[in-house]
Amino acid sequence: MTYEYEALAEKSRKHLWNSFTQMQGYNEDLPVIIESGEGVKLRDVTGREFFDGVSSIWLNVHGHNVPELNEAIVAQLGKIAHSTILGMANVPAILVAEQIAKLTPNGLEKVFYSDSGATSVEIAIKMAFQYWQHKGKPEKQSFVTMNNAYHGDTIGAVSVGAIDLYHKAYSKLLFQAHRVEYPYCYRCPLGEELSSCAFACLQQVEQLLEEKGSEIAGFLIEPIVQGASGIITMPAGFLARLRELCTKYEVLMICDEVATGFGRTGKMFACEYDGVTPDIMCMGKGLTGGYLPVAATVTTDDVYEAFLGSYESKKTFFHGHSFAGNQLGCAAALANLELFEKRDLVRDVERKSEHVAHRLEQFLELKHVGDIRQRGFMIGIELVKDRETKAEYEWQEKIGLVVSRRSCELGMIIRPLGNVVVFMPPLSSTVEELDEMLDILYEAIVDITERGVKVRSEKLPYGL
Ligand SMILES: *Cc1c(COP(=O)(O)O)cnc(C)c1O
Repeated sequence: MTYEYEALAEKSRKHLWNSFTQMQGYNEDLPVIIESGEGVKLRDVTGREFFDGVSSIWLNVHGHNVPELNEAIVAQLGKIAHSTILGMANVPAILVAEQIAKLTPNGLEKVFYSDSGATSVEIAIKMAFQYWQHKGKPEKQSFVTMNNAYHGDTIGAVSVGAIDLYHKAYSKLLFQAHRVEYPYCYRCPLGEELSSCAFACLQQVEQLLEEKGSEIAGFLIEPIVQGASGIITMPAGFLARLRELCTKYEVLMICDEVATGFGRTGKMFACEYDGVTPDIMCMGKGLTGGYLPVAATVTTDDVYEAFLGSYESKKTFFHGHSFAGNQLGCAAALANLELFEKRDLVRDVERKSEHVAHRLEQFLELKHVGDIRQRGFMIGIELVKDRETKAEYEWQEKIGLVVSRRSCELGMIIRPLGNVVVFMPPLSSTVEELDEMLDILYEAIVDITERGVKVRSEKLPYGL
């Protein structure tokens, strides 16, 4: 079926309310309407092609329209699309759980399914909270989160979120969480220099845990890369120190690998950078190769066993989502993980990201590039008004959005985080494709920050 662009755009204006999008600007604009995808490219209904430079918001692994994934889903569809996981099981859900236990750091054994990153975090929060009741320490009720954290958009996940632009409006609806600094070393909140700081921000963490640890249930961490705050990267060894502190003060370490998991950072899971096993790990996004909404909260035997007891003990984890363990999604996840192995994809990303790092050196010479942060295929380029003083662009200038719009005009879809230009190509991107994408990225940044090129519409539709 082919659709006529104008008719669709009109229907869209009438009925569609998009995520994280200011609809006023969007509806005055000519939106991109995707019809199909192939490999690392998206095609819209008018036939224009774009590189998928943010992996359809950090999800995509092997590209689009991948025969192996398509076939796995079709084969599963011929059997059954969905049956419940409440009190019963299904074949692909069991097999994926086995794979997850195998791929995650040693000690993570039990897989609880849901359908989005946010729900995987909700589950982690409830699990940790109830764990301490079962362990006879019901006073352990609060959570620690890191400044500018993002863990999803449901109310529990927003309670442990800490990005004021997204979260402040709901503050009255939320439970309070303790906040500590994430090591944003380019603009150290404590005014330190990484070369000499000896992780001063960790002292703040230790002080909090020492004072309040007896009432803290869990500590939510985006390991190695804090994503939505602007691709902020942790220095080596930092996560390991957080693990030590959590252990010392008996706080469950909850690592949110929704963005970083499944090869995105050049390791299967980012925790591997510091050789850390969290008590609970959240995953989503790349689990199905970015195909279908499956998420998981993975934990240790210790946490799982705390919930065991007679029916009458009421220790059951009373939580579940209708589509948990969905067979089509789990079939896609299985095929995804098979491809990871067959293509040695994590090693491949590690290798290709060295090439990307090399190419990014050229960006660092640009007048308005302040900092470049990269772990694998997770890349943030922080634009600044003045490199010497690190003076920021005013947010009203929407510099990240304007650069992204220019990139779209040049043939690559990206989506910024404030003044940070984000580049997260599908993991399957070849070196040649990466080079083409980086050429577009470079042109877009130079066009906007140096050449004064105007984009088609200054009324940018995005909400970020
Ligand atoms: C995207 C993301 C989430 C939320 O996942 P959804 O599937 O969008 O609910 C949670 N945590 C992190 C770190 C993420 O990047």
